[in-house]
Parts: sequence; structure tokens; C-alpha cells
Amino acid sequence: MAKAAKKTRPRVVRSVKALREALAEWRERKAVIALVPTMGALHAGHISLVALAKKSAKKVVVSIFVNPTQFGPHEDFSRYPRPIEADLDKLSEAGADLVFMPDAKEIYPDGFATMLKPTGPASVGLDDKFRPGHFDGVATVVAKLFTSVMPDIAIFGDKDYQQLQVIKTMARDLHLPVKVIGAPIVREKDGLALSSRNVYLSPTERAAAPVLHQVLKESAKAIAAGEDPEAVLSRGRAKIMSAGFKLDYLEARDAATLAKLGEQPRKPKVRLLVAAKIGKTRLIDNFAV
Ligand code: AMP
Repeated sequence: MAKAAKKTRPRVVRSVKALREALAEWRERKAVIALVPTMGALHAGHISLVALAKKSAKKVVVSIFVNPTQFGPHEDFSRYPRPIEADLDKLSEAGADLVFMPDAKEIYPDGFATMLKPTGPASVGLDDKFRPGHFDGVATVVAKLFTSVMPDIAIFGDKDYQQLQVIKTMARDLHLPVKVIGAPIVREKDGLALSSRNVYLSPTERAAAPVLHQVLKESAKAIAAGEDPEAVLSRGRAKIMSAGFKLDYLEARDAATLAKLGEQPRKPKVRLLVAAKIGKTRLIDNFAV
């Protein structure tokens, strides 16, 4: 059977000026515009965001930018995968309309001097504690993407759950007229959350990695059934460490603010969040109780 005709590639723009020119016509026609920010190395998780964006908007812009300001000095910025051609093929297939792929100088030109410093969900002792400055970089680049694209809606994955809460708060606090939407986590069959960093895992590490999701799932069930969260989580922490992980945290938090439990007047919705390192690779995941 003949292969289905390949879809045409979306237009790629590299400067904010070209981006705004490309968007002007859509804006004139009052087309609803969605933005899906990514760092590339696209997988089915990213593509699910594009699919959701297409359902909710007339035009879909995907940004691909490995943002240097959100990486720590000893993190994987330089070795972060950048398979540009494969990414563009996937975005053609997914039906993205425009790809914004700036280089670092476009986003951070010489003399750049304005970083955002989010607090609230960005200072709760989760990833902020283990990646100092990370959310400053995330909030700054996403604010720049929002003011450059001016999307009506922006889609982010629940996968980076703390990031999602930081961005929702930032958009609200800066009165940015964009609706920030969270999308469900896409997982492998064995439960491992898809991540561009999974390619770093050796076969042994890959085999151990689903323990994060297992523990989240079991713990959520036990807590929902009324077991003491701290007792459940300490069991979970032990299980993750005995699978070979160095644990940064496994915590149960208020799903909206990420505050510790017991600090709320009413019983909040609870989210379990985990971050742990296996070999050189740091993985994060989360789950609703
Ligand atoms: P990244 O390229 O890792 O910065 O991710 C770009 C966007 O894709 C973020 O909003 C992530 O939360 C989202 N994302 C990454 N992995 C997944 C996944 N497995 N399922 C759903 N969304 C994801």
C-alpha cells in the first residue's frame, strides 16, 4: 500500500520580528492561537500537547528552545538532545502551524538584564530546592514567549507539575491575557513518564525507572484509603532508594499551592510529587491522590 502523503512542514521562524509578522494575519482574522512551549527532543507527550492545542485553537505555534537560564552549572544543558530534523517531521505530522526556534542571542541579547523571580509555588522546597534558579529561568523565558506570541491559550504538561503551577501564577500575577492549560502525563506501557531525558538511561536504569510511577500510584491509593500520608511516603521513599535511585524528594502537597499538608484551613486536593536520580539522570513524576 502506498505510504500516506507526508504533510508539509510548518513554517519555522527564528526571530521575534518574523514571528510577529507571521502571526499578524491570523490575529487580524481573529483566529484563536495556542502556544506549546518545548525544549525539543519531541516525544508522544509533547505531541499530545499539540493535539490538545489543535482541538482548542485555530492555529498552533510550537516553540523549540533549550533555555540556558533554567539549567544549573552542573546540569545537562550542553548534552541535552537536539534532534531538530526529527522534531520538525513530528510537528508536520501533528499539524503544527508555526514553529518558533530562536537561538539564545535572540532571547537573551547582549545587555539582557531582566529576570523574573517567582515565589509562591516556586519556593516550596521541591524542585526549587534542588535546582536553585531553575524557576527564575522558566518564568522568564515563558513570560518572553507569552509576550512574543501573545497566545490566547498555552498548553503545558502535568509532567512538570511544579512548573505548571509557577506559570499559572506568573501569568495571573502579570495580567498576561493567556489561559494556561495543563495536559495529562503520557506514559510508557510500564508507567514511566515520557521524557526527553529517558534517552540517557542505560538498559538497567531503564528497567528500574518505572518504580517511580509504581510508588506514586500505590501511595496515592493508600492515602486515599485513609492511611497516614507520612507513613505511606516513608515506605515509598525506601522502595525508590532500594531500586537504586538517589532520592531528592517524595512528597504529598496541596495540589494548587504545593504547600505542605496541614497548612490549609480546609482539606485540599493532594498531589504526590517525586524527583530522583538514577546514575546521571534525574527523573521527575507526579500523581493525583
Ligand atoms: P520540555 O520539552 O521537557 O520542556 O517539555 C515541554 C512541555 O511538554 C512541558 O509542558 C512538559 O510538561 C510537557 N511534557 C513533557 N513530558 C510530557 C509527558 N510525558 N506527558 C505530557 N506532557 C509532557
